[in-house]
Amino acid sequence: MPQPLLLGIVGLLGLAVGSFLNVVIHRVPRGESLVRPGSHCPNCGNEVRNRHNIPVLGWLLLRGKCADCQAPIGARYPLVEAGTAALFVAVAAKFGWSWELPAYLYLAAVAIALAVIDLDVYRLPDQIVLPSYSVALLLLVPAMIATDGWNTAARALLAAGVMWLLFQLIGFFGMGGGDIKLAPLLGLYLGWLGWSAVAVGLFAAFLLGGFAGSVLMALRVARRKSRIPFGPYMLAGAFVAVFAAAPIADWYTNLLIPA
Ligand SMILES: [Zn+2]
Repeated sequence: MPQPLLLGIVGLLGLAVGSFLNVVIHRVPRGESLVRPGSHCPNCGNEVRNRHNIPVLGWLLLRGKCADCQAPIGARYPLVEAGTAALFVAVAAKFGWSWELPAYLYLAAVAIALAVIDLDVYRLPDQIVLPSYSVALLLLVPAMIATDGWNTAARALLAAGVMWLLFQLIGFFGMGGGDIKLAPLLGLYLGWLGWSAVAVGLFAAFLLGGFAGSVLMALRVARRKSRIPFGPYMLAGAFVAVFAAAPIADWYTNLLIPA
């Protein structure tokens, strides 16, 4: 498939998936059904009309207000949709029309849902994290068979095990339970790409989390004891690794052993 066509299709898919992720982000932490009822205004309860349900455009048409009761609709809805589309396009640009593409698009969708939920309610719901292991395996196994990637798959499983062990150890020092359950999934995905991706993903997570934590403390938004969700930084770190592990690893090696 030509690259521009692929990016266009994946971008539209990202908008639609982002629209669904808004439902996931709102309903999963509340234990509500993802299917019923249809989209409705949380203020007046009226159903959202079809033309207002179009990703991003619907929100713009409504100018961020409910068509019936004029209650404001957060800018987060179109941002999640546009953000999902942008991440999907970046993932498609990285992997091209390949066997791995569906697996990493799935990771992108899960990452956005989990990051926003963790920022909202300081939780990474099991209902999203745990089934993601089965989905990831289901999507990566065909890639393994098609590309004869037995070593790749073995490395991915080993990296998942390493992350599991590492986060069990970190867990003794007060890492959240959700983070511990998410770590092996990211290990699996990054291990598939290589050990340098695992290392970059891990360091990027702690670097981003530590940086954000100190900025928040400096601004006195967060006190030392207050909770700062770590999930978003683990997920952001993983995507830093997906896109940039190779150049970062090269740069670091050159730093240690100047050419
Ligand atoms: Zn309303």
